[in-house]
Amino acid sequence: MALLIHQFGIGSDNLGVLIHDPATGKTASIDAGEEAPIVAALHEKGWQLTDILVTHHHGDHIAALAALKTRFGARVVGPLADQHRIAGIDLPVSEGDHFSFGNIGFEVIETPGHTVGHVAFYCPSEAVLFAGDTMFSMGCGRLFEGTPQQMWSSLSKLAALPDATLLYCGHEYTLSNAHFALRFDAGNPALQKRVAEVEALRAKGDFTIPSTIGQEKATNPFLRAGEPALAAAVGLTGHPAGEVFAALREAKNKG
Ligand code: ZN
Ligand code: FE
Repeated sequence: MALLIHQFGIGSDNLGVLIHDPATGKTASIDAGEEAPIVAALHEKGWQLTDILVTHHHGDHIAALAALKTRFGARVVGPLADQHRIAGIDLPVSEGDHFSFGNIGFEVIETPGHTVGHVAFYCPSEAVLFAGDTMFSMGCGRLFEGTPQQMWSSLSKLAALPDATLLYCGHEYTLSNAHFALRFDAGNPALQKRVAEVEALRAKGDFTIPSTIGQEKATNPFLRAGEPALAAAVGLTGHPAGEVFAALREAKNKG
């Protein structure tokens, strides 16, 4: 792998990620929720921050943006659609844009739903996706701003990436997502196996992320909204996947 990836915890459940291109020495932080843990991670790896890739405007993803930008002189890549509410974006990006991080190419996928301006960052050569709060392992972001149809179409775009694509996301919510998934998809053997894995990982204090797109397609109830079992579980047999998705999201909101 040309790209080195270091994941660490921020606060109670946010996941910090640093990516490093050894060929050029560039280092990017995916989002910038809190300064101290990001700086500590940089020191631990001996990497110098050069870039910040911002997925969306929520505080737990941008609170340290200004401080880190000032401290390191980092270039900030972020959603054009949310430039009015994310200060300091140097490279505004939108759907289908390509940009370079060191020698490595990235592609921008707009994923409205959790927020209207949300973007995901995809690196095809390394088969890695940074999905922010759009897709979690066995879950998806709450619909704070977008409609269920928007989120369903955003998740569908991410699900269309190659199965081997590594999924990094903004939160370690996997265990509670697993319990929700079991309520609606208990007969799914891939889910049963994944839940056991996740319970073992969390018992050791390990992260369950990265996942893969293939694993999410097999276990994530929100991506499986087109499956008859999920439609039946929400009483919508024969209804379109987007409607089943909306019902599942509504059930998740209720806890
Ligand atoms: Zn968020
Ligand atoms: Fe978040």
